[in-house]
Amino acid sequence: MQLAKRVETITPSSTLAITAKAGELAARGYDVIGLGAGQPDFNTPNFIIDAAMDAVKAGHTKYTPTAGLPALKEAIIGKLKRDQGFDYQPTEIIVGNGAKHVLYLLFQALLNPGDEVIIPAPYWVSYPEQVKLAGGVPVSIPATQEQHFKITVDDLEKAVTERTKAVIINSPSNPTGMIYTRDELEPIAGYCLDHDILIISDEIYEKLIYNGNSFNSIAQISDQVKAQTIVINGVSKSHAMTGWRIGYAAGDSRLIKAMTNIASHSTSNPASVSQYAAIAAYNGSQESVEEMRQAFEKRLNAVYDRLTSMPGVTCVKPQGAFYLFPNIQEASHACGFDRVSDWVSALLEEEKVAVVPGEGFGAPEHIRLSYATSLEKFEKALDRIEHFIKTHQ
Ligand code: PLP
Repeated sequence: MQLAKRVETITPSSTLAITAKAGELAARGYDVIGLGAGQPDFNTPNFIIDAAMDAVKAGHTKYTPTAGLPALKEAIIGKLKRDQGFDYQPTEIIVGNGAKHVLYLLFQALLNPGDEVIIPAPYWVSYPEQVKLAGGVPVSIPATQEQHFKITVDDLEKAVTERTKAVIINSPSNPTGMIYTRDELEPIAGYCLDHDILIISDEIYEKLIYNGNSFNSIAQISDQVKAQTIVINGVSKSHAMTGWRIGYAAGDSRLIKAMTNIASHSTSNPASVSQYAAIAAYNGSQESVEEMRQAFEKRLNAVYDRLTSMPGVTCVKPQGAFYLFPNIQEASHACGFDRVSDWVSALLEEEKVAVVPGEGFGAPEHIRLSYATSLEKFEKALDRIEHFIKTHQ
């Protein structure tokens, strides 16, 4: 049997690969500490679980409209108004099986073969793969640690061609935790308007912002910019609901309709029970969102100085999300490893600590550590990393 050509172009997720390897070691009885997780370690708040159970018991177990229940669209519209001051119509919203699925639908609906999407690096691992799956060409713009991993309009200009269809802005960023300020977003938005480039604003970490930093959606700049932007978000990270698989897109109704058509022939609709849970998440108290944010902030502040005091490790302090993305090339060389990914493999083998190598994020000198784990575990992992560096130098 010959598989489709498109499969050959896809790189498996490096995040999932390291998680699998760590799982294997744990199954063999080793005390493995996994810092690869891309999900909150908290359980979904109880009132959301209760709402889901009530919905199932009330018989809400059938197909729903493809783009989501009207009540969920209203809850999302309410959230966007409350948090960003946006006005959206139900025809401008699609709910999908997680933000990842919504992005997949977006690229399928948007791209013709050869169309280019600009992706600032470091980037979330799935963007380039999803663009390729839609026949598009991912064009990455490297953004260095010195520039806090953020692109400027000059960087953008150099990468734009006649085939450029869209640019992705992921703020706060996975993996760097950086947030674009409004001043930084304005020239980028202006350029995209002038050149008719769609702005894809992935705001999935919007609620996880620390130490007095603030979140700005690029679409808040003006009504014209909002019309040029598709906003992506969901409940996974904000409400500790990764397993429920609810994400959404808000934007141009033609694009939303095209995405809905594709979903209607592939997934039909997101799980009905999850949609009821998400209605409760958006319409209910946001207190637990804030509690989880505070817990992440505490952990970040507790571990950051210790991590950056390790020899050969440099790291910009993250402003949001729940990852640290240090450059460890020097530490890696000092330990006798040419490639950071080899350092990562040896760390897992010898010290049983799983971190994600930066290659999949377009930044091979870095590693990603998730602090969506208890402080106790994270500190124990840092002990082991310190021990690893010491014994190899
Ligand atoms: N966007 C970014 C930047 C992410 O890190 C993730 C998950 O890791 C997603 C989107 C997808 O989230 P979900 O599909 O769980 O809504």
